[in-house]
This record gives sequence, structure tokens and C-alpha cells, in this order.
Amino acid sequence: MEKLLKIVIENNRSWTKHGKVASYIPELAKANPNALGIHIFDLDCNEFCAGDYKTAFTIQSVSKVIILICALMDKGKETVFSKVGTEPSSDPFNSIIKLETRHSHKPLNPFINAGAIVCTSLVAGDNGIEKFERVLGMMKKMADNPTIQVNFNVYQSEKLTGNTNRAIAYYLKGANIIERDVEDVLDAYFKLCSVEVTVKDMARIASVIANGGIAPWSKKRLLPQKVNQIVQALMMTCGLYDASGEFAVNIGAPSKSGVGGCILSVVPKRMGIAVVGPALDESGNSIGGKKVLEEISEKLNLSIF
Ligand code: GLN
Repeated sequence: MEKLLKIVIENNRSWTKHGKVASYIPELAKANPNALGIHIFDLDCNEFCAGDYKTAFTIQSVSKVIILICALMDKGKETVFSKVGTEPSSDPFNSIIKLETRHSHKPLNPFINAGAIVCTSLVAGDNGIEKFERVLGMMKKMADNPTIQVNFNVYQSEKLTGNTNRAIAYYLKGANIIERDVEDVLDAYFKLCSVEVTVKDMARIASVIANGGIAPWSKKRLLPQKVNQIVQALMMTCGLYDASGEFAVNIGAPSKSGVGGCILSVVPKRMGIAVVGPALDESGNSIGGKKVLEEISEKLNLSIF
């Protein structure tokens, strides 16, 4: 398997030249655009990695998966989906346009910025610090890594420059979808985007979801089966923003991307996969990561369809 992964990484490394690293904050622009790495954690706890698997990156939008898990566990399906929709979006991840034009003003789904900000406001906790701690705690459990922490420089710049997210959050407050203090919710959201991880952490998180919500290493249930099911359905339909349909066709596994360059993929009942490649395509998805997953899906027959 490791041999295969090595070949697939090298087959696709040249794709990284066709993408661009996120540059909306200087900290992210420092990432190596040619990096490409993968880690697989299967349900028998076998691990395989190749390429630049040691590269540390910020979790960014992949945090939206764990934020949604916590919101569903803390408030239940009914409450969560009374404030955020379950439909894919054909707009960019940070788009604001549908908030005004949709009759309900609800964000389309939990995996665009507007939806994740609403879900952050729903996570248990009296303030942003408690909400952040709740989600970080879940990330640590799912990654089986108690040392995960925030990259402070990324967090600072996210907070300083996150004016589109601020506009989204204030609009949602005006529409009574966010009931809490906007800056407090945003602070938790910015911190959660800035959590630093590796593909090893992310493959474990994916493996828990692939195993129905049970950690393969301890056999402990970390999230309810129903929540696990909902999260996978949304990953499949909305996980790669306006490129989710194409991804379902070419890879066929519930997945979530982030502008740090990670794509996390869940192969139900088989394995968790995480790739990193900071060079992104025009939708904000790792360009090399997508190609690597495509080839692996083909070779290992990973599509659920
Ligand atoms: N920090 C980014 C933002 O809020 C995360 C977006 C992403 O990874 N797509 O805009």
C-alpha cells in the first residue's frame, strides 16, 4: 500500500503547479505550494503514509465537520436545521449573496462559512472560549491526539482580516439566526479555523466517521450513529463547496476540504484518508490532493456508488 501511495503522490505532484496557495492572510501564503502528502488509517488500525505527510497545516474549513458534529450533539437535529439548511451551494464558500435572497435567510448548509458560523453559535458553551474548548476537545478525541493546538499567528491574522466573515455574522444576527454576541462567536470560529494539525490527525478523524462514530483504536463511541450519518450525507453533497458534485463523480467518498490544503475523505466501513497540498484550485480545494484522491479511488475502488 505504501508503495502505491508513493507512486500516486509522485504521479500527481506536477498538478500542484496549476494551483495557488491561499493568500488572504500572509501566514497562509508562506505554505509550500509543491507539498503533497497523504495518510490512511484503516479500520483495523493499519496506517500508511507517503509524500509530505509531516507537513503541519491549519485545519481551516475541515473544522466545519467537527463544529457540525458538536452542534448536532449539543442542540439536536431539529434546532440545528431550523437555523441552517441542508442544500448544496453553487457559490464560493465565503459568499454572502444567498443570505439576503433566500426567503428564510438561512445559510444553505453547514459547510459554507455562513453555515459554520451559525453552527459555532449553537455549540454548547456560555461564551466563545467555552464553545472553542468544546470543539477542540472533540477534535483531540477524534484525532487521538491531546496535543493539538491553535497556530496563534494564523488565528491573529484570521481575526484581523476576517471582514467578510464578520459581515456574514452580523447579517445573520440581523436576521435573528445568530442569537449570541457576534464577535464572541466569530472569535471561536477564527480559532477553530486556525487549529494546527497533520494528515495523521485528520486520517484518524476520518476513520472515526468511517467506523460509524466509534474510534477504531479504542472501540469507544465518540458520536451518535445518527449524527455520523447526517455529517456524511452533508460531506458528500456539500463538502467541497461548489465542486461537490464533480468530487462525488470522480472520488465518490464523503469528504471535506479546507484552504489550508487538506481534504479529509471517509470511506465508510473501510478507512479514513487525509491528503494535504496547499496549492488550491479556483474553488479553494487542494488541486493536487483532489487528483491524488481521484487516482486512489480508482485504484482501490473507493467510490460508495
Ligand atoms: N478561514 C477561512 C475562512 O473563514 C476558512 C475557509 C476555508 O477553508 N474554505 O474564510
